[in-house]
Amino acid sequence: MRVPKLIVFDLDDTLADTAGTILARAEREAVEALVAQGLRTTPEEASIALREIRDRDCAAPFLPLLVERFGAPDPAACVAAGRRAFFGNDARGIRPVPGATETLAALAARGIGLALLTFGVRATQERKIAELGLDRFFSRVRIIDLALGSDKTIALAEMIREAGLTPVETWVVGDRPPGEIRAGRELGAFTVRLRRGEFASLDPAGPEEEADRTIDTLPALLDMLCWQPVAEGPPRA
Ligand SMILES: [Mg+2]
Repeated sequence: MRVPKLIVFDLDDTLADTAGTILARAEREAVEALVAQGLRTTPEEASIALREIRDRDCAAPFLPLLVERFGAPDPAACVAAGRRAFFGNDARGIRPVPGATETLAALAARGIGLALLTFGVRATQERKIAELGLDRFFSRVRIIDLALGSDKTIALAEMIREAGLTPVETWVVGDRPPGEIRAGRELGAFTVRLRRGEFASLDPAGPEEEADRTIDTLPALLDMLCWQPVAEGPPRA
């Protein structure tokens, strides 16, 4: 394992404590949107069902499953309304995961390039980035819009190429095995899974989703690097 020239981070539940701050509100707003779009139940019943589905399998496609269970006059429109509400929620109150600022500062102080690759509704993701106050650390930020699908491989390859680097010089850090971990592995980057948040209980579907390393807290990333003293003093770990 070599010290990377670039680390590409995921945002939600990697740098942002999405699950601990805004996830419950996003779920509630998604349920309300489903009911407003004709889901044949009450928001309370739908919320209980949502909890059952997600507690059993955090990666289950809960919006289509809710529409399937309760029914709606236009199922596709109902799912779409739920998705818009879930991913387009108000990012107010989102916070960084513990140690995020210190970790990014320490990595930047080592001269490692930092980039951010995230998926969702553009305006919401931009609001989250601004609210977290972490954007100053990133030389590159890329948001994959919800409408364009969730595959991160192409965007990741482009970001690495635009930085003038190759995947073997890059680390990919994220929380979702089928998301950025799979994309990073596919390209040959070194992958680090932060096992926390919304998808903490999700096991890799196969070796293609298995990260090279798994950590429980973001600052543990610093322990994986071989630190050399810097001019202004030891790194803040
Ligand atoms: Mg994530």
